Amino acid sequence: MTELLTVTGPATGDVLAELPAATAADVDTAVGRARKAQREWGATAPGERAAVLLRVAALIEAHAEELALTETRQCGKPIRLSREFDVPGTADNAAFFAGASRAMEGKAAAEYSADHTSAIRRDPVGVVGSIAPWNYPLQMAGWKLFPALATGNAVVIKPAEITPLTTLRLAELCAEAGLPDGVLTVLVGTGPVAGEALVSHPGIDMVSFTGSTAVGKRVAQLAAQAPKRVHLELGGKAPFVVFDDADLEAAMHGAVAGALINGGQDCTAATRAYVQRPLYDAFVDGVADLFGTVRMGDPEDPATDLGSLISRAQAERVHGFVSRAATAGARIVGGRAPEGAFHEPTLVVGAAQDAEIVRDEVFGPVLVVLPFDSDDDGLALANDTRYGLAASAWTRDVYRAGRASRELAAGCVWINDHIPIVSEMPHGGVKASGYGKDMSSYALEEYTSVKHVMSDNTGEARKSWHRTVFAGG
Ligand code: NAD
Repeated sequence: MTELLTVTGPATGDVLAELPAATAADVDTAVGRARKAQREWGATAPGERAAVLLRVAALIEAHAEELALTETRQCGKPIRLSREFDVPGTADNAAFFAGASRAMEGKAAAEYSADHTSAIRRDPVGVVGSIAPWNYPLQMAGWKLFPALATGNAVVIKPAEITPLTTLRLAELCAEAGLPDGVLTVLVGTGPVAGEALVSHPGIDMVSFTGSTAVGKRVAQLAAQAPKRVHLELGGKAPFVVFDDADLEAAMHGAVAGALINGGQDCTAATRAYVQRPLYDAFVDGVADLFGTVRMGDPEDPATDLGSLISRAQAERVHGFVSRAATAGARIVGGRAPEGAFHEPTLVVGAAQDAEIVRDEVFGPVLVVLPFDSDDDGLALANDTRYGLAASAWTRDVYRAGRASRELAAGCVWINDHIPIVSEMPHGGVKASGYGKDMSSYALEEYTSVKHVMSDNTGEARKSWHRTVFAGG
């Protein structure tokens, strides 16, 4: 009997959809179709593929409100975020990759040996198996699909089984935009069944995964059996370093927005604020006050700042972290037991650097604040994590800013801000946050293989170098 997956709106408990769970056989069928379709799609000119992606961008804009509502309902995230970040960000990403893929070129073609002309081609990798998380379903699908499609690959994508609805709708819009049949398939299924079948399938040339570090490791192990190319965008635990010359007002507002975006369920969210001693008390009090003014409630109300988390289970998991931090001696501001999937903004003050709440990904509206004395200490504490996705430094001193951008070990360092992203610039981590880049022209490199073509330019039957191997004849 076919297993049904239920998509439930976490804020309301409403059942939004029931969908059959993809099986290993469904993966096999989708990959087979993708392999066939990729041959023709990969042979199209970049301009043709760009035209499809530009139509996708236009269709996303035309269906912006519908997409935003669906994203808000399936995730519980505030409608303002869906309208102003998720949907326009995805449309912009499609438009960016339409243009950027047409500007791709190899390095110089030249005679590196007198008798040969060398050139570089960038060929599609083939069929990409993509796996996406639940926190930004639409944007993550876009980040995975657009650079891969723009460079002539076919994609079989598995969204998180609890948030598949906007990815399914995006695939319909891609078909409407003229993407040929089979080039993109969305498989709604669980990680252990459909996810593992996809990663392990011999017809998948590359795996592009965004999700937790634990599952990322499993994915890399499975992919290593082939082996096949792997791109991993994993967890984060971003530090937020406030030096004593910082604009305190800006840092406090930055911390609230950076910690609470998407209910804190953001891999780059500010999670650990390290504040230099002279500003520490004022920062703690100021952020606590601002947290107290955050409007938590109905995600569909445009006045809401903080919606629900992705599920009741996630809210309880977050609360577990907070309770254990309290037991271990940290001072908690906020942090009452969740109501359903709603968890209030919570400040954890003065936890130990080696405490669980400082080291592990909480993925909720929780900010830890800790003091530091010297600049050396602040940067060392910020880097004292297994993750390396993002970090920010707050200072008005150009030399401190320069040092922080050099020394913070992360794929992205913001100066006097935290969170903004642009399609033109890469997103991706170091250390346990993974490897490879989403967005930007670097993503085009992920989804293409560099091929060296070396052509004899002498036309001679006996090449000069043959003598080295075969002197006679
Ligand atoms: P998750 O790792 O639980 O799941 C991610 C995806 O992997 C889902 O589609 C899931 O079904 C699938 N999956 C689960 N087990 C699998 C298996 N054994 N084989 C193959 N696929 C499997 O992550 P999540 O809870 O959905 O998302 C939150 C995590 O994602 C956080 O750790 C967050 O930091 C991370 N994230 C990272 C980025 C980034 O760009 N680095 C962006 C967004 C989210």
